[in-house]
Amino acid sequence: MRQYPAAMVNITNRCNLRCRHCFVFRDGNPNAPRREMDTKSMLENLKALQQRHAIHTMLWMGGEPLLRPDVLREGVKLFPRNHITTNGTIDLIDLPGCIYVISIDGPPERNDAVRGRGTFARVMDTLSRVPKPFGSTVMSQCVVTRANEDVLEELVQCLLPTRIEGLTFSFYVPRARDESQMTWGSLERRDKAVYEALRLKEKYPDFIWNNRRTLELTLSENARAVTDRCPAKQLVLPLYLEGDRFVTPFCCYGNDVDCDLCGAWVVFYLAAKLEAAESVGASTPPSAHG
Ligand code: SF4
Ligand code: SF4
Repeated sequence: MRQYPAAMVNITNRCNLRCRHCFVFRDGNPNAPRREMDTKSMLENLKALQQRHAIHTMLWMGGEPLLRPDVLREGVKLFPRNHITTNGTIDLIDLPGCIYVISIDGPPERNDAVRGRGTFARVMDTLSRVPKPFGSTVMSQCVVTRANEDVLEELVQCLLPTRIEGLTFSFYVPRARDESQMTWGSLERRDKAVYEALRLKEKYPDFIWNNRRTLELTLSENARAVTDRCPAKQLVLPLYLEGDRFVTPFCCYGNDVDCDLCGAWVVFYLAAKLEAAESVGASTPPSAHG
């Protein structure tokens, strides 16, 4: 049976937000809100998948995964490493050893233009309520788009004084024939944003958690060679929830994606890991965490 070092699972299709760039609620995506698998069945399914594919790292997603705390509390015990992606508007539950990844897409005005009015303030409220001590790591991920590329440092400045311990930049994954204001439409036009992320990595090396090579691979001169052999597709098993079963879409970002313009952090992170492993002659695939 094929082994996957990592998997991502949508444990609910419900969400309390409706972000403009959300791939869960895109038209034609199989992940439309509907009746959901119950907790017991979900945990049994995930346990079987872990054993079948030797999954080491689970990326918990939704919808908003904190809408199913029962699944999270028990589910994280099935995997050695767990990342929970949340919109940050619901109180975090303490899951020792796990990593919360809070999605924030810019300083207040820009973030809220994508994620809804008042969302940034709600995330700050959530962060202010994280107890001390807290056993989980709390980090943030910003989806960089054409609409927020000019305010990335402002975002860093907003997050530095908070409970956020580090930030990664992931670049927007457009759908096929995407004409939204989010996409650059070409890798060359995206480069300006990637160079800005590289500049911020230099300036805030401890707070920006993308490594330098990951960002270099995202530049137009390198990106196609990476996405043509997408390592995320090879190493990360995507599981979307459809009613009372899991289905596997084309990739973690759905079925209608434009691979040529994909800027997903995980893709370039894994490529950098594979490159480093090859350069030292390692023969085992990397895990999907860092
Ligand atoms: S918080 Fe996540 S799942 Fe919810 S609408 Fe936004 S992008 Fe989609
Ligand atoms: S869109 Fe999906 S398959 Fe295509 S490069 Fe990105 S992660 Fe890989």
